[in-house]
Amino acid sequence: MLGRLRAQAKGVGATIASDQRIGIYGPARGLLGHARFLRSYSAHVALLPADRAPGRHALREARALGMAVLPAGGALAFDGVRCRYRAPDGTEAVFDTVYPYLGYAGRNTLLRGLGLPAEDDGALRVDRHQRTRVPGLYAIGDVVSGLNQIAVAVGQAAVAATHAHNALPFAPRA
Ligand SMILES: Cc1cc2nc3c(=O)[nH]c(=O)nc-3n(C[C@H](O)[C@H](O)[C@H](O)COP(=O)(O)OP(=O)(O)OC[C@H]3O[C@@H](n4cnc5c(N)ncnc54)[C@H](O)[C@@H]3O)c2cc1C
Repeated sequence: MLGRLRAQAKGVGATIASDQRIGIYGPARGLLGHARFLRSYSAHVALLPADRAPGRHALREARALGMAVLPAGGALAFDGVRCRYRAPDGTEAVFDTVYPYLGYAGRNTLLRGLGLPAEDDGALRVDRHQRTRVPGLYAIGDVVSGLNQIAVAVGQAAVAATHAHNALPFAPRA
């Protein structure tokens, strides 16, 4: 099944061919936003809520965008070619790709107690060199950025490493 599930974050657009039948599976909260993102890649997007039915507002918007909303709490299956979603009422839908939306919970326990300023979602605030308020402590990646992607984390690491290098006393090699 994992062979066909595309467990990817925002890089998903690059891996989904236009107009595939796409199901987006995950907690009702936040599902619509991700489905909207995928809707620009395909005319056939369905919301597959894992826990409960989305709220009225989300349902209205999903339908206005031509996206199906299937009954919550169904099961996923893979037959070797296609992904299937079987709803508790027996309704079954077939997809070329199912995009699992997992949500995100930052883990920055190591930094607790340092009193570092953070945004509402817990992302640490840093300056343009990735420096936190603690001298010599840099932060990069998911603990910092609102865009959780590998390329972002690597780019931020390069910025931090270069600044750290330049901050050290110059020591020409003997
Ligand atoms: C299912 C999934 C699919 C994804 N797909 C993509 C994709 O297709 N493309 C893309 O660009 N990004 C993708 N991402 C996002 C990407 O993985 C992250 O943005 C990236 O890994 C962030 O790097 P990071 O170094 O900040 O954090 P991480 O890679 O999470 O590294 C943090 C490390 O710190 C360790 N750690 C945490 N707490 C402690 C502690 N107290 N003590 C010691 N170690 C600790 C963790 O075990 C982990 O190894 C995906 C993420 C997930 C979950």
